[in-house]
Amino acid sequence: MRNEDIDVLVIGAGAAGAALSWSLTEKGAKVVCLEQGGWIDPSTFPSLKSDYETQLTREGDFNLSPNFRNRKEDYPVTTHGKNPPFVMMFNAVGGSTIHWQGIFPRFHPSDFKVKTLDGVADDWPISYWDLEPYYDLNDKMLGVSGLAGDPANPPRSKRQTPPLPLGKMGHTLVKGFEKLGWHWWVNDHGIISEPYNGRSPCMLHGKCIFGCPMGAKASTDRTYWPLAMEKGAEIRTWSRVKEVTISKKGRAKGAIYYDKNGNIQEIKAKVVVVCCNGIGTPRLLLNSKSNLFPDGLGNSSGLVGKNFMTHPTHFINGIFEESMDSHFGPMGSPLFSQEFYETDDNRGFKRGYMLLGERTFGPLFQAQDIPWGSTHHAEFGKIFPHQVGLTVVADDLPEETNTVTLDDEELDSDGIAAAKVTYSLSENSKKMLDHAVEKSTEVLMVAGAKDVIVPPPTNLAHLMGTARMGTNEKNSVVDKDNKVHSVSNLFVVDGSSFTTGAGVNPTSTIMALALRAADKIWEKRSDWK
Ligand SMILES: Cc1cc2nc3c(=O)[nH]c(=O)nc-3n(C[C@H](O)[C@H](O)[C@H](O)COP(=O)(O)OP(=O)(O)OC[C@H]3O[C@@H](n4cnc5c(N)ncnc54)[C@H](O)[C@@H]3O)c2cc1C
Ligand code: SF4
Repeated sequence: MRNEDIDVLVIGAGAAGAALSWSLTEKGAKVVCLEQGGWIDPSTFPSLKSDYETQLTREGDFNLSPNFRNRKEDYPVTTHGKNPPFVMMFNAVGGSTIHWQGIFPRFHPSDFKVKTLDGVADDWPISYWDLEPYYDLNDKMLGVSGLAGDPANPPRSKRQTPPLPLGKMGHTLVKGFEKLGWHWWVNDHGIISEPYNGRSPCMLHGKCIFGCPMGAKASTDRTYWPLAMEKGAEIRTWSRVKEVTISKKGRAKGAIYYDKNGNIQEIKAKVVVVCCNGIGTPRLLLNSKSNLFPDGLGNSSGLVGKNFMTHPTHFINGIFEESMDSHFGPMGSPLFSQEFYETDDNRGFKRGYMLLGERTFGPLFQAQDIPWGSTHHAEFGKIFPHQVGLTVVADDLPEETNTVTLDDEELDSDGIAAAKVTYSLSENSKKMLDHAVEKSTEVLMVAGAKDVIVPPPTNLAHLMGTARMGTNEKNSVVDKDNKVHSVSNLFVVDGSSFTTGAGVNPTSTIMALALRAADKIWEKRSDWK
């Protein structure tokens, strides 16, 4: 073990780890981040290659699922339950923001108090207003395209760059929403539409989840990390943490990790922050057993790994006579509707959902569901490029029976137990999805669709709830500052800490929480030993 004087050890270099490391380094802390993956060279992105869509097939090493990619740095995630989720994440500097689409909504104030308002789940111990300055700071750091003034959300500051174009599919949806008198607004995106902070704007070529070679998409390897490293933060790549270590007094000491050559290393720090996402974090805490924490670190409540949430969804496709060219333009969502976001008891379920107008994948992806044979081309021509997609982001209330546990029968390339996800849709979520299908069909038909295709429900790449935030050690794993209740210098900062999941994409909230947690850690620096 090297003799180092590290203030803060951050584990995981994704969205949360990057924002938190930048903020603490900027304040003067010595930060080291351990990341199990490496840097991804943008010149290797599939988006630059003509066969980019094959990456969505099972063998592609840019596949959205670690189970199909099987890179050395990935770990297996086995899935179980009545509705086993399709797990999506990326393991590298930048984490899952290498893949993400940059759709950047915020929680509503009501999302933080669903127990008070609707008698379900739990209230967060913080409010929207506690996070608001951090949402704003994060927007400034990434550069957000969009338009302030949405009547469904609290006011926000001028967006850094103008909105991305609606395109033909967006305008078609607007027609439908307007005719029905439903709410719609252009989306905020972590994708810049004009040059910003030395980064080039989006050139609208539309393959964002296969890597953005322009750097227009705000993956954290192109935004936070260069700034943090300039100020002195260090990332140790190919460093997979096996366990967080604990002193006899119950303080976090540091971590034991495997380096690139598979050798065990130990590192010590004054504060440890786990940012491994809603699956990687409970996996690491459950793998960190000790005499003081025989059931896993910070797990005195038994809640580590419980209440796993992943926004259930339907990708609903309207088929139009005219060509819609939905596969051109950024893969994010040009516009959204929150007409059905807040609870209305007449609908038979609590909370609600957002509808995202969403661009489609390209021809290969569309062709795969059409049977081969003499009719293939004719059938393909009916749907491509004639679709307009609506994606449902349904508020998935926490259920203790939806879990992340360890799977000792599957191991990663260093021999560490895999994650096992068990998930079933609740009755509330099922009713919400049925309602969303009905309303999506209605708006698509009103917009002029001649047919609507509704594939089976699935889930989004949103991993939340498995080390939830709360007021005490019985009802939660971390406190209002993301500190693990039972360990004074250990923090969990990512989607795991969500008390509830809301009906919006989570990453602006994950990053705002990370910036807030950095301030809280810094405020307590006199306690660092
Ligand atoms: C295809 C796709 C599209 C998406 N689109 C959107 C979108 O439009 N809008 C939105 O809000 N969100 C989107 N997301 C989700 C978004 O990417 C995540 O919410 C966000 O990246 C989570 O941040 P995080 O820091 O918690 O985790 P991650 O970004 O996943 O980072 C976690 C990091 O921890 C590392 N790690 C894990 N375990 C260990 C260990 N034991 N040792 C060392 N390192 C470890 C991992 O390698 C990884 O780099 C999308 C995700 C995907 C996959
Ligand atoms: S469409 Fe824009 S954000 Fe997406 S990959 Fe291309 S340049 Fe990047």
